[in-house]
Amino acid sequence: MPATPAWPPKSAPRLFVAEPLHPGARVTLDGPQAHYLARVMRVSAGDPVVLCDDITGEWAARVVEAGKRNVALEAVRLLRQREAVPDIWLCPALIKKDRFDQVLEKATELGVARIAPVVTRRCVADKLNPERARAIVTEAAEQCARTALPELAAPVRLAALLADWPETRALYFADENGGMPLAEAIASTAVASAGFLIGPEGGFDDEERATIRALPQAVPVSLGPRILRAETAALAALAIWMARAGDWSDRDNHPKPGE
Ligand code: SAH
Repeated sequence: MPATPAWPPKSAPRLFVAEPLHPGARVTLDGPQAHYLARVMRVSAGDPVVLCDDITGEWAARVVEAGKRNVALEAVRLLRQREAVPDIWLCPALIKKDRFDQVLEKATELGVARIAPVVTRRCVADKLNPERARAIVTEAAEQCARTALPELAAPVRLAALLADWPETRALYFADENGGMPLAEAIASTAVASAGFLIGPEGGFDDEERATIRALPQAVPVSLGPRILRAETAALAALAIWMARAGDWSDRDNHPKPGE
């Protein structure tokens, strides 16, 4: 007896939606999402679509009606609960747009819980288009079959970030002038929740460096003997953290070979 084909098929389009989903929930998409479904994926009534609400998780849904401007869908059943995301924040200084786009995309793939952009004295860019940033993060998550999105905060000045830094969260300060080797710092940091502060193309000035180091939660860390570009530093730091303190070392959450 041939196995019944999986429904929805792996090829079904995946989208994050703003509304919380439940069995029978009706969702009407317009704008770019409707265009993607109707024009690019050319869905029609009855076709399967996977919807995620970043609250309950990932749902199998069915197209009810595919119009030129709107596509109506109905959630059928929960496929996967929203995944647990490691409690790591990334606080990258704003850098040139195309490279900051890379930071947003790769940090999402690596599994950060929160991206909190910072404006420092040597930032070339000092603003971020929130809709554009949200679209980059969402698309990265959709392309990697994620059921969770990182929270995306509005940019804040360095002083505000430090003033509001949570008591119980370590702040790994990636200092291009040197600090404790990151792997060693992670191993010796008792608190579980953490965040990374990464500077802009021009680095931190001495006054900023002293202010950051004065924060009790700050742990100045080195990312090795070579200067990295800001976007490289952010992703290298996250990868090391994920492997040492995140969920890359959990054995029960990796896809089993052949799965
Ligand atoms: N223009 C600066 C480098 C800035 S690199 C200079 O030449 O000194 C951008 C940011 O990446 C830095 O502010 C720091 O947060 C991080 N970074 C880059 N290389 C690093 C390293 N080897 N150790 C720690 N942080 C590093």
